[in-house]
Amino acid sequence: MRKPVMAGNWKMYKTPAETLAFFEKFRPLAGNAAHCEVVICPPFTNLFAAVEAAKGTAIRIGAQNIGWAKEGAFTGEVSGSMIQATGATHALVGHSERRQYFAESDETVLKRSQAALEIGLTPIVCVGERLDEREGGRTESVLTQQFQNGIAGLTEQQFARIVIAYEPVWAIGTGKTATPEIAADAHRVIRGLVRAKFGKGAGDAIRILYGGSVKPDNVKSLMAQPEIDGVLVGGASLDPAGFASIVNF
Ligand code: PEP
Repeated sequence: MRKPVMAGNWKMYKTPAETLAFFEKFRPLAGNAAHCEVVICPPFTNLFAAVEAAKGTAIRIGAQNIGWAKEGAFTGEVSGSMIQATGATHALVGHSERRQYFAESDETVLKRSQAALEIGLTPIVCVGERLDEREGGRTESVLTQQFQNGIAGLTEQQFARIVIAYEPVWAIGTGKTATPEIAADAHRVIRGLVRAKFGKGAGDAIRILYGGSVKPDNVKSLMAQPEIDGVLVGGASLDPAGFASIVNF
């Protein structure tokens, strides 16, 4: 049985004070959810506040990115040990907004994932095709390329500790959710790639989240697909009641 992961990506929203206000409302609604793992990824500047606010609950906190170097002249980057020192346990890697606006590549996705694993953080590694790629019939080849050039470079032991998020770029922030069947098809492709590279056990165990305009009113049908092991939620994770109803689908 794969335990679902219900993760929130706050993108570049909320101050530390707004973070505390969120947790005041969210904690009583979803703080002790036992049917799933809850992970909230605020901006770096809110990690401390979020970890403090989540103390005594089952909620885990993650960063939205992670530097691949341990330390050094990398202006603007934040290392794994710095993230870990805040008490965070997870890090998003390769989000499509990082790929689109900040030149993230499959190679850097691999390096960032390795950095997270080396320090004991769980990387949530994002993959997904753009609209033109889907319309051009290239979804499977894009997912294959992202996998082969990226996380296929992990060792079997490392791979066992990651989470994958399938996030079709055309569904992120657009209100156009993939149908549960479209999402499940893509998840099957990814799981097949995992089986081929790391074996059946790894394919059966890997948790693949769906992300892209997940809302309280569509989460149930997505989670009804056995292939979908949780969700990565952007916009709808900013509202405590809304995200709690997603967590408690
Ligand atoms: C995301 O930021 O990962 C995301 C899926 O955004 P949204 O839910 O707003 O589409």
